[in-house]
Amino acid sequence: MPELPDVDVYIEHIAARTRGHALERIRLASPFVLRTADPPLAAATGREVVSVTRLGKRIVVGLAAAGESAASGRAAGSAELYLVIHLMVAGRFRWKPAGAPIPGKLGLAAFDFDSGTLLLTEASTKKRASIHLVRAAGLAALDPGGIEVLGSDVATFAARLRSENHTLKRALTDPHLFSGIGNAYSDEILHHARMSPVKLTSRLTDAEIAGLHASIHVVLEEWTDRLRKEAGEFPEKVTAFRPEMAVHGKYGKPCPRCGRPVQRIRYAANESNYCPTCQTDDKLLADRSLSRLMRGDWPKTLEELEAKKTQSRAAAAPAGSIAARAASFIPARPPASAGAPPATAPPKTDASRASTKADATRASTKADGARAGARRR
Ligand SMILES: [Zn+2]
Repeated sequence: MPELPDVDVYIEHIAARTRGHALERIRLASPFVLRTADPPLAAATGREVVSVTRLGKRIVVGLAAAGESAASGRAAGSAELYLVIHLMVAGRFRWKPAGAPIPGKLGLAAFDFDSGTLLLTEASTKKRASIHLVRAAGLAALDPGGIEVLGSDVATFAARLRSENHTLKRALTDPHLFSGIGNAYSDEILHHARMSPVKLTSRLTDAEIAGLHASIHVVLEEWTDRLRKEAGEFPEKVTAFRPEMAVHGKYGKPCPRCGRPVQRIRYAANESNYCPTCQTDDKLLADRSLSRLMRGDWPKTLEELEAKKTQSRAAAAPAGSIAARAASFIPARPPASAGAPPATAPPKTDASRASTKADATRASTKADGARAGARRR
């Protein structure tokens, strides 16, 4: 899901191309992308864009009567209607010449200006991206309420962080607490701050909170700068997985700080990445999928994990055994030499994750089948 750095760069580009321009027409490829009925979508057309801002991870286009910004010199405050666009996981923008067609399978909507056409696309069979057209009161109702950490001092940040007792990972990604931070940048922030994703917010010292606040600034500002430079004409390559990231999406790859393999915690559809050496005093955090396979025999340190892996190999575990299946989840340790990438690190792609999961499922189905066969005999 595009988070603060990606959304802010989108906003800069969209604002540069649309502010002061009239929204001439809105074309919807699917009626379902529009989640509001009142005011009607037609009320937005013919209006002038007076602001483009961010609300959490959403993009908000402020619209006023045509000629408003030129006449009054006012900006955001003069908007009467707001187009609120949530990209969710796979929603993206493209900027095309005016009147460009909506691309077949991916296209959701087109916003036509005299300066060009802003296309909203979604590269997923699950259509979750949304458009709301609301008045000021409706806009307030869409605000989850998280504070902007980049605009907050340490005291405000600390008060918000301590307002509920959660793990740091959950607190940072809770849109009711903090705005614009999701799974990818929370991984990067916690690695930068050398803090465990499962540390409880009630246990943090003032110094740790100040350090975390500073890390949020460094990570979000560095990434916004980097994405701004990469964007060129318009940000086309928006993704949560980037080669320059330290740990996010880097399971099994060497930590750029210490060279040890990045680990993961998986839950539901998400995965969190962290470096045990830099963040958790070498402790491995329980990964549900792995701990299920290990049946509670969970290694507490990287050294134990390594030892278990060696044992599994020595035992030449038969295919489909618990040890063999567990071994497929264990990343190779990088050579002690110089933190070079491990030769056998599993490639981090959705396809490889899917196949690992499928293999595990097949293996367990096979085992179930064997047990059923045994019972029949
Ligand atoms: Zn590390």
